[in-house]
Amino acid sequence: MLKKLKIITYGCQMNVADSQRMAARLETIGYAPTDEFADADLILINTCSVRDSAEEKILGKIGELKQYKRRKPSLIIGVTGCMAQKEGDALIERAPHVDFVLGTGRQTELIKIVRLLESFHRHIVDVEGMSDPIVEELYTPRGTHSAFIPIMYGCNNFCTYCIVPHVRGRERSRQPQDIIREARAAVDNGTVEITLLGQNVNSYAHGFPQLLTEISRLDGLKRLRFMTSHPKDLSDELIEVMASEPTICEHLHLPVQHGSDRLLQRMNRGYTVERYRRLVEKLRAAIPNIALTTDLIAGFPGETDDDVDRLLEFVREIRFDAAFTFIYSKRSGTPAATFDDQIDDRIKHERLERLMAVQNKISREINDRLAGSTVEILVEGASKSDEKIFSGRTRTNKPVLFRHGDERAGDLIRVRITQPQTWLLKAERVE
Ligand code: SF4
Repeated sequence: MLKKLKIITYGCQMNVADSQRMAARLETIGYAPTDEFADADLILINTCSVRDSAEEKILGKIGELKQYKRRKPSLIIGVTGCMAQKEGDALIERAPHVDFVLGTGRQTELIKIVRLLESFHRHIVDVEGMSDPIVEELYTPRGTHSAFIPIMYGCNNFCTYCIVPHVRGRERSRQPQDIIREARAAVDNGTVEITLLGQNVNSYAHGFPQLLTEISRLDGLKRLRFMTSHPKDLSDELIEVMASEPTICEHLHLPVQHGSDRLLQRMNRGYTVERYRRLVEKLRAAIPNIALTTDLIAGFPGETDDDVDRLLEFVREIRFDAAFTFIYSKRSGTPAATFDDQIDDRIKHERLERLMAVQNKISREINDRLAGSTVEILVEGASKSDEKIFSGRTRTNKPVLFRHGDERAGDLIRVRITQPQTWLLKAERVE
């Protein structure tokens, strides 16, 4: 009998990729996806732990699921991902209607655990093996024009504000032949864009520039992207490969986090503002139309007015196409959470607003320069707000909205930019 699976995914692309893999595993024991909680025989919540607000939201959702368990006592509820890894038993104590908690290094145990719970009602918590060697499985991304393929797991950088190394373990890299086989299979199944994933792809253990080159030359692949890069080990070789391989898109997400050397040191980022500046110069010299995006933190412990001035000055100087701006969020278990010079919430918000105002002005100026130009976009599908409006993405990773004609997701089309905005571009199809 066909059983129904409902997966809710929070957080980053890595979690999206993990959820796709878990769904594929469960399909092998008869679970088909459903969008309806009430229809589900198994509900999986794949969690994120990057900020307090994310965890609060997830705990709220877990609480909501109690009603479905009451209506269908045979329903199995599982929690996976970074919050599962961090909380373990505490999640069951807090929400006894949850049947199992599976850590980030244990997703290959999923089938065994679900099989067990189909027969016996009991609580299972397994958060061991966070840094265990990768168990490679045959997995093929299917039916998607754009596929996310993890190349490594974990992180060894221990930035003082970040929970990832504590919930995703030490760096472990997949074998190149396994990644290439998966990419090949994805393209054979209709994928035209691949994004290679890792907390820090530059420290991939088996030569990232070589892997990128091999995948970029796969027949049928139109676009290749990767994230996330760490400035401390972005190599000249990688920049050369980005400049020479036409399939690799002209966009790099390179988190800088701050513009003050004093704070970069307190964050344990491992580079200086000057090092980052030189990297940007090299990238723009090698790939003139490259789009650069970044992550920025406001309100890190000990941040002074002078640090904020340096941050704003740096953002004005580099002129990122876009930036994900965050308020520092204290994460228990990270060194920065113990720093005694925490910044008051009101001041954090004021600084974030100033930072966003500076960055938004630059993003708008950069997008305004695209008015009237014709660009290629990869069609993604109907926009969330209006099915007559479709969305797509430029090679420089800018979101584009256009009035739908006969385009389908996965089509590469040319559009003329008619109305630039701060965060997206409005356009019309060019026949
Ligand atoms: S590089 Fe730093 S911020 Fe990124 S995942 Fe690793 S520890 Fe976290």
